[in-house]
Amino acid sequence: MMEQDMQQILFTQEEVATRIRELAAEISRDYAGKAPLVVGVLRGCFVFMADLVRCLELPLTLDFMSASSYGAGTVSSGLVDIRLDLHDDIAGRDVLLVEDILDTGNTLSKLVAELKSRGPASLKLCVLLDKPERRTANIQADYVGFTIPDAFVVGCGLDFDQKYRQLPYIGILKPSVYE
Ligand code: 5GP
Repeated sequence: MMEQDMQQILFTQEEVATRIRELAAEISRDYAGKAPLVVGVLRGCFVFMADLVRCLELPLTLDFMSASSYGAGTVSSGLVDIRLDLHDDIAGRDVLLVEDILDTGNTLSKLVAELKSRGPASLKLCVLLDKPERRTANIQADYVGFTIPDAFVVGCGLDFDQKYRQLPYIGILKPSVYE
């Protein structure tokens, strides 16, 4: 599906599924006896989160939010521009934040700071993909599906111009698609 637009397929549907099952087993062990609130960051989280939570053996609840970062240095007072906020209070909850990719970390680090200010019992970050080479903010994920090199990837929730999110694999787009 749309494979002609890919320069390279990094992880096949099967590889992604296998890795998500492994991550879920690890998370289920770590949160045993707890009832975490799994918070997805829209829109990129939707595929990964759906796959992940269906493999978690925990009495969890779900919520979603969406945010965008203010440009670097423009607004120092506001932490993050929350486009869609959580339905419920997270004070005292064990929150697991789920995002598609950790890149520069600018948006996520601000989102994490905002959520921490609301007094959760714990807050951990789970990402499908991590691009550590690109990091500028001081943030690490607690759970990482795959560490990848500095390339623009699509699929499994990740888009280019809102397209390709539905691809069941993770691929690198051909430069001719966006040039
Ligand atoms: P940050 O730079 O704040 O860590 O990343 C913020 C957002 O940039 C991610 O949630 C994701 O939407 C987007 N992003 C970063 N790297 C990629 C990539 O390789 N592919 C796609 N499709 N989006 C990316």
